[in-house]
Amino acid sequence: MGGAVDPVRRAGTPYWFAAAPDGSLGLLLMSHVLAAVAWPYANGPRHIGHVSGFGVPSDVFARYMRMAGHDVLMVSGTDEHGTPIQVQADADGVTPRELADRYNRVIVEDLHGLGLSYDLFTRTTTRNHYAVVQELFEGMYRNGYIVPKTTMGAISPSTGRTLPDRYIEGTCPICGYDSARGDQCDNCGNQLDPIDLIDPKSRINGETPKFVETEHFFLDLPALAEVLRQWLDTRDGWRPNVLRFSRNLLDDLQPRAITRDLEWGVPIPLDGWRDRPDKRIYVWFDAVIGYLSASIEWARRSGDPEAWRKYWNSKDGEGSVPSADGVGGDARSYYFMGKDNIVFHSVIWPALLSGYSGEGSRDGEPGELGRLNLPTEVVSSEYLTMEGRKFSSSRKVVIYVRDFLERYDADALRYFIAAAGPESNDTDFTWAEFLRRNNDELVAGWGNLVNRSVSMPRRTSGPSRRSTRPGSPRPTRRCSRWPAPVSARSAT
Ligand SMILES: [Zn+2]
Repeated sequence: MGGAVDPVRRAGTPYWFAAAPDGSLGLLLMSHVLAAVAWPYANGPRHIGHVSGFGVPSDVFARYMRMAGHDVLMVSGTDEHGTPIQVQADADGVTPRELADRYNRVIVEDLHGLGLSYDLFTRTTTRNHYAVVQELFEGMYRNGYIVPKTTMGAISPSTGRTLPDRYIEGTCPICGYDSARGDQCDNCGNQLDPIDLIDPKSRINGETPKFVETEHFFLDLPALAEVLRQWLDTRDGWRPNVLRFSRNLLDDLQPRAITRDLEWGVPIPLDGWRDRPDKRIYVWFDAVIGYLSASIEWARRSGDPEAWRKYWNSKDGEGSVPSADGVGGDARSYYFMGKDNIVFHSVIWPALLSGYSGEGSRDGEPGELGRLNLPTEVVSSEYLTMEGRKFSSSRKVVIYVRDFLERYDADALRYFIAAAGPESNDTDFTWAEFLRRNNDELVAGWGNLVNRSVSMPRRTSGPSRRSTRPGSPRPTRRCSRWPAPVSARSAT
């Protein structure tokens, strides 16, 4: 504990007494704070651009809120479904599950190495996650916010069988990239349908797929637009770009397909669909539900299976005084991500929560999980660039977390991101600036301040017998040498 706020817990009350920065003793209302951290996609190691967007900022926030006396639940996990993992597994000759296992381990090591203080870091391939996703799907379906729709799906003309999205490639109708996939363009990031592609081709045998009518499920976003607009109008204190971007998205909401022709994903929990091997819930629909499923898993593991409700079920919105039973009322939730993920957190996820809670224009009743809280704040970072270029694993413009941590302490990177990260503008990582920040600011400035503050009382009160006890923090080391040229390490 330290810093400006030094709380003293008063047993039996939801309050903390805390010293304000001016030294006065104040009363803080204790809240249940959910730190909901974006789920890394399990198809490769993390680079420092990733962790500057979601990892370090959320960890700084969670640690601060704990010191300020709040009950913090920080959850995340790896996002493991979808076409890209299936495609990569096919290419590597392994199952999607094996590929996801491999990268789950790699990512856990990256994030653990950085010292991120998750209460639970789980995965989207757990039984619990499947059950929670299916519960939300069923609840929204019952309330009328998920509707079946006939759409055009691809089949192979030579075999007559369904051609899954991942086996279709063509030119992106939005940016003109010539290797866009049936579900998404990797160049511009837009979600696509196979029928949108210009000159679509089967990746199996090059033939042009035939499009026939097929049934899929759609999220009725227009029926949820009004409740989303009202909610966004109540949001104060968000970064202005996030709020502006989110409001603009509401102007043109269309129903959105949430199932795909794919075998790797969560089964559709309806009669006649449950056992179909060729239709699955789409990855973005299941991944955002991870915040809720991870909270439920954390509660079960903690021995109090209902404990997640303190973070998710408020009767009157967040920030109000707790009810007599201590449940709800004081829950707040903060979501951390890079800016390419804003739409999923400020529109899609709140739409799912509202639909499940029965709060859109079709009304309805909450399911067994109760009425679920909308985000208090969506905290989005801009991009970290590297020596002026965008990070890209495929273009080898990248510094992987594990390579970084082989040469430097986690604190050096954490400090750089905290002090110079892309909070409201894109910012650039250069080795020269990293060394300057570490050597001049962290080591010479802050390090000296801490060192003098600690050693002065020791000098005046005699030597401490416990000055080298195990577990004391390692002193931050100066980065005494320049790193190897970026071009050499970027090929790893
Ligand atoms: Zn594109």
